[in-house]
Amino acid sequence: MFIEVKNLKKAYKNGKVQSEILKGVSFDVKAGEILTILGPSGSGKSTLLNLMGGLDTADSGSIKIDGTDIVGMSEKDLSKFRRNTFGFIYQFYNLVSDLNVYENVEVCHWLGDKSIKIDDILDRVGMAEHKKKFPDELSGGMQQRVSIARAIAKNPKILFCDEPTGALDYKSAHDVLEVIEDIHKKSNTTIIIVTHNIAIADMSDHIIEIRDGVVALDQHNDKVLSASEVEW
Ligand code: ADP
Repeated sequence: MFIEVKNLKKAYKNGKVQSEILKGVSFDVKAGEILTILGPSGSGKSTLLNLMGGLDTADSGSIKIDGTDIVGMSEKDLSKFRRNTFGFIYQFYNLVSDLNVYENVEVCHWLGDKSIKIDDILDRVGMAEHKKKFPDELSGGMQQRVSIARAIAKNPKILFCDEPTGALDYKSAHDVLEVIEDIHKKSNTTIIIVTHNIAIADMSDHIIEIRDGVVALDQHNDKVLSASEVEW
């Protein structure tokens, strides 16, 4: 199995109160799957994504990625692993406001595989003709497409998406989902999406739901819809 999460636990301390957010989460992800992680607000979806992406540390359990357990890895090794293997997109696009579209992608390109041309990446997300524009000249959907370009510039094996359509109108959300679908088809990237939007589950191969700190549902979707067919 490409990703194996086993008995993952994470608690946060707020003052004297210790809250157990993940109480033993286990599931597997196949290479090239789109996995959607659902669950109520505050159930720990982002926490789980951050642990899998090596951005936060688990209290116990394991997260094996292609055979390597990232729990307990040194920060130095983890940051190298993260740089080479993962891409991230978030609800808000985190673009650098005084760099143009091309430069925003170029910044990340320096970090990884140089074999992909920035113009080709911008073309893939439909932003080539806007490459000289600055973030404040773009709509939210366009900014998200640039952030996707930035995330895939290093050709990551896994693309983590935290509420990728959360701040977008219906049409822009579909555009972004179509870009994600296209990356999945053409590069066979494993895509892990945290969302409130149950409709996104319809375009994924695998759905898990986090509830009360554990996996309350783990199912495969045998009728995957295309991004253009998904409705909410
Ligand atoms: P979800 O993504 O499902 O909405 P989160 O993973 O963001 O849930 O948060 C789960 C719980 O963990 C929330 O109660 C949140 O307040 C808490 N939490 C998340 N990150 C931290 C942190 N760094 N420090 C303290 N509490 C946190």
